[in-house]
Amino acid sequence: MKQILLIGTGGTIASEMTANGLAPELSTRQLVELVPALAEICAIDCVELLNLDSTNIGPDHWLQMAQCIQEHYDGYDGFVLTHGTDTMAYTAAALSYLIQGSPKPIVLTGAQKPIGFDTTDSKDNLTDAFRCAASDLPGVSIVFNHQVILGTRARKTHTKSFQAFASINYPNLGVLRDGVLMRYIRQDCREAPVFYSQLNHRVALLKLIPGVDRAQADFLLERNDALIIESFGVGGLPESGGFFDCIRHWRDAGKLLVLTTQVANEGSDLGVYHVGHRLKSDLRVLEAYDMTTEAVAAKLMWILGQTRNLSQAKRLFYTPVARDILWPVENGKAN
Ligand code: ASP
Repeated sequence: MKQILLIGTGGTIASEMTANGLAPELSTRQLVELVPALAEICAIDCVELLNLDSTNIGPDHWLQMAQCIQEHYDGYDGFVLTHGTDTMAYTAAALSYLIQGSPKPIVLTGAQKPIGFDTTDSKDNLTDAFRCAASDLPGVSIVFNHQVILGTRARKTHTKSFQAFASINYPNLGVLRDGVLMRYIRQDCREAPVFYSQLNHRVALLKLIPGVDRAQADFLLERNDALIIESFGVGGLPESGGFFDCIRHWRDAGKLLVLTTQVANEGSDLGVYHVGHRLKSDLRVLEAYDMTTEAVAAKLMWILGQTRNLSQAKRLFYTPVARDILWPVENGKAN
C-alpha cells in the first residue's frame, strides 16, 4: 500500500462555524477520520503545518511547505496538502518553482464547503486528492471537483461553486470519474526533485484601469524589485500618463518589469499593437505570454531569490518550469 503524507494548512475544508464566521479548526487527523474510505486507498500520516485561512498564507508559508515536503520526501510515495481555495493557485505555482521535477505527486486540495456541513465537496475532493497522490502523477497539481490541474496553470474562477478552479491556457492533466483517475497528460519529471529555499517577496502587481497614470507604478517600483503590470487585451500601455518614461527609468534602475493581460484566457502578445510594440522593441520589458499572473508572481519571487542580474533573470523567466510558459518557446520568440 502507498504511504502518503497529509500536510494540513487550514482553509474551508478544515473550518467550523465560529461566532465570527468560518475559521480553520479541525486537525488533519480529524479530516482523515471523517472520510473512512481513505483507508482503502493508502496509508496516511499527518502533519499539522499550519491552520490558516489561506488569505493569511504568504511566501514564508510556501517555504515552510516546501521544506516540510523536502524533509519527508524519501519517506513517502506522495503528498497531499489541504489548503484554502482563495490563494491555492498561488501556492500551487510557488511550490512548482520551489520543488522542480518531482517524480512523486504533490497534490493540493481544499473545499468550498467545510467537511462538517451536510452539503460539502470536502469528502470528494479529499478522496480524489489521495487517489491522485497514490498514482503516477508527477509534480505539483491541484485536484478539485474531479479535475486535475497543473500547479502552474490554476486559477480560482468561482467564489462559491464547487467548480472553483480552471486551468488557464493549458488542458487539465486529467479527471476523476467515479474515483478512477483518467490521466490525460503526464508531467515531465526528474529522477529526484530539485528543492529551492529562497524567495524574494518584493514583487508587486498593478492592474490598469482606464485613466491611470504612472504615479501608481512609480509608487510600487520604489518599494519593490519587480512589477507585473496587468494591461488590457494582448497588451500595451496608455500613451498618455508617462508610462513609457516610467518603464525606461525603472528598467535602468535594475527593476524587473513584466507586462501581462487582465484577460483570463489566451495571454499577451505585445508586438501586435502600436501601444505595446515599443515596450518590446525599445524598452525590452518581459512579457508573460500564456503564463498566469499567479505563476508570474511566484516565478518572479523565485527568480529574484536567486539573482538580481537582469540577463540571468530574463533567461530564467523564459525558461519553462512545469510547463508554465509555452507560447514564446513554441513560437521561437523568447525575448
Ligand atoms: N477563505 C477560505 C480560504 O481560502 C476559502 C476556502 O478555503 O475555500 O482559506
